[in-house]
Amino acid sequence: MAVPAHDQRDWDFATKFGIDIIPVIEGGDVTKEAYTGEGNMINSEFLNGLNNKKDSIDRMIKELEKLGLGKAGVQFKMKDWAFNRQRYWGEPIPIVHCPTCGDVAVPFEELPLKLPVMEKFEPGTDGESPLARVESFVNCKCPKCGGAAKRETDTMPQWAGSSWYFLRYIDPHNDNEFAAMDKLNYWMPVDWYNGGMEHVTRHLIYSRFWHHFLYDLGVVNTPEPYLKRSAQGMILGEDGQKMSKSRGNVIDPLDIVDAYGADTLRTYVLFMGDYGAAAPWSDASVRGCKRFLERFAGLTDIVSEEANSEKIEAGIHKTIKKVSEDIEAMKYNTAIAAMMGLLNDIVVEGRITKENLIILVKLLCPFAPHLAEEMYAELGGEGYCSLSQWPEFDPTKIVESTIEIAVQVNGKLKATITIPNGCEKDEALATAKADESVAKALEGKNLVKEIYVPNKIVNLVVK
Ligand SMILES: [Zn+2]
Repeated sequence: MAVPAHDQRDWDFATKFGIDIIPVIEGGDVTKEAYTGEGNMINSEFLNGLNNKKDSIDRMIKELEKLGLGKAGVQFKMKDWAFNRQRYWGEPIPIVHCPTCGDVAVPFEELPLKLPVMEKFEPGTDGESPLARVESFVNCKCPKCGGAAKRETDTMPQWAGSSWYFLRYIDPHNDNEFAAMDKLNYWMPVDWYNGGMEHVTRHLIYSRFWHHFLYDLGVVNTPEPYLKRSAQGMILGEDGQKMSKSRGNVIDPLDIVDAYGADTLRTYVLFMGDYGAAAPWSDASVRGCKRFLERFAGLTDIVSEEANSEKIEAGIHKTIKKVSEDIEAMKYNTAIAAMMGLLNDIVVEGRITKENLIILVKLLCPFAPHLAEEMYAELGGEGYCSLSQWPEFDPTKIVESTIEIAVQVNGKLKATITIPNGCEKDEALATAKADESVAKALEGKNLVKEIYVPNKIVNLVVK
């Protein structure tokens, strides 16, 4: 690249051959190594003082345009798209092959070109498209010279239609235009495109390409069709490899449903990892999710009229908050982990009020809907749990009235004490010193310093 001050390979080369290393970005020490970070431009004439990652790029493009040396552009890394298929189900390609004129487009007035009705539309053995067998379709007149010509018999791939079909959903009965602009303005752009990673360089970009074209025609209202994209991670085999028949590591979800039930499968798939990351299958984890759901179902046995402790009340409201926020952020695994943690605490306490259990059942519902609906009905819930009001957390209940903090003596942990949330230094110190282990550590020593970080830690320094 010939930027020895800002590329390590160039720096090594320049250093070896005694070439000047002139920094153009402020920030590093280029006598020691290349600086690849951010900073203001220096030694760069009109770019001096501009940030190298932001303003300087625009400024550089403007300068090149001014000098007539280049212009700004966007490069799409769209792979070549084999656009023809030899099968019946697909949009016919509106092209006529004329021996005189070559490939001629079917005139606009004759569109759309429809598939001919065929009784047997299976592909033949000759590699030809099924449409090639329909003579009334194939034989036609050239739109240009009027001579005998033949229609293209290949059809478009599924991804052709899937690049734009959703736009017609917006206004499916409109015979006059692609879709009415007011309806397009209401619906578009699509809020969220979710697909596998392979879509990034294929369907997603084909669809964007298609949309740019429609935008240039003036029939859609936005240049880009999607606001946001996400991709789910791939589920790998238990050996950490991509599932494939030849490796023999394929998990059939129906087998899991048979063995553990659909709720366990669903909960496990949502629990197995970060939404966007690949994760290996784990039978042990499936069983863990099954156990979690069984223990959750067991909560109906410990329904009590006695109120839950403040700790559990706080836990329930914290979990409402956590699960609600995690679902929005597609962090399903941490939402489930929060419910698992709370379940343990409730089991330790040995009871749960009916109101609290209904809240938990609603939180579980998106993950294990069958179990949730059954428990909801058993608890006397009306209608479907999945259609009921989502619980809201009470911020005042999330704040616990007492908290546990660590007590250190000379930096070593001596005890964990319970103090009122937000209490004064005096009270925290007194509680700490009253603890048996702390008192023992202080015995016969000279207390030189008392530190209290509110709600966090007490640290006593002795000599
Ligand atoms: Zn012709």
